[in-house]
Amino acid sequence: MKEFELIQNIFQASMMANTQGRDDILVGIGDDCAQVAVPPGQSLVFSMDTLVEGRHFPLDADPVDIGYRAVATCVSDLAAMGAKPAFFTLALTIPESDPQWLAGLAQGMAELAEPIGLILVGGDTTKGPLTLTLQVHGYVEAGQTALRSHAKLGDDIYVTGLLGDASAAVPIVTGEVQVSSERFDYFYDRFWRPAPRLIAGMALKRVVHAMMDISDGLAQDLQHILKASGVGAKLDAHALPISDTLCQWQPEAAVTLALTGGDDYELCFTAAPEMADEIALITQTLHLPCTKVGKIVASGFDIDGYQGERHGWQHF
Ligand code: ADP
Ligand code: MG
Repeated sequence: MKEFELIQNIFQASMMANTQGRDDILVGIGDDCAQVAVPPGQSLVFSMDTLVEGRHFPLDADPVDIGYRAVATCVSDLAAMGAKPAFFTLALTIPESDPQWLAGLAQGMAELAEPIGLILVGGDTTKGPLTLTLQVHGYVEAGQTALRSHAKLGDDIYVTGLLGDASAAVPIVTGEVQVSSERFDYFYDRFWRPAPRLIAGMALKRVVHAMMDISDGLAQDLQHILKASGVGAKLDAHALPISDTLCQWQPEAAVTLALTGGDDYELCFTAAPEMADEIALITQTLHLPCTKVGKIVASGFDIDGYQGERHGWQHF
């Protein structure tokens, strides 16, 4: 068997590539193209992300973790649109074909993809420095997407979950910093196992104005909403949801990490103040922390109670 056939087989045999019971997926892995029929009344949303070893994840990481996190971070964009996960493609560049490593990667991807109904329908495999490119696709009723440009003056600004843990975790998962085993386990999980807020995104899209996921730090990402909507914001640094573990470990840096550290993959959204009860009901039902962290104002971007750094993750 040729090397690349072997690779194709590993992915094709994975449960995440199983199209049984899926009327929308007419052709999956194995032909020249995948073929999909978008269900009536739905529109297709899709997003592409590339992850490069040594840049988006540490060198020599566990392939199961790499696979899980790759799918999680990409799927987070579907959550931000309020879309239902449907299928994805994978462009894989690998330095060598190590079947055990690839099986681990596929296992990690399937761990996240299979339960959410995200089917691997195709991809491409090439030789080179380890790089993963995923294109994820979701379905959403036309006209029901929560766009970055929809924030309105007077809206409250909310974030889901806790901020700052994943970026605080980077020196821990790379082994630069040693911590107690309890802290290690907590932060390891916070970096490698982000929880894309899919169900929250689908439920919230009906009650919010603007929504996006936080990947490069709240302070930087919120500015995309402000720019797209032509408004300003006032945040309250004291309101930011930060874990007790992070507060205890990095009391000085916690707020800066919550504002500027990347990799949170939580949702940030704006909504009219009269929606507060409904938002609380949705998020409490999901047992998902949801915190009001500021307001949309006419212009400017102030952070009450904070004077530090505002720049998040810079790509170049
Ligand atoms: P072609 O030469 O026609 O482009 P390939 O030999 O690259 O086809 O791929 C054969 C089949 O395997 C296609 O259906 C393709 O989508 C799938 N495939 C190749 N690489 C991957 C991958 N990394 N993940 C998932 N499917 C893959
Ligand atoms: Mg072909």
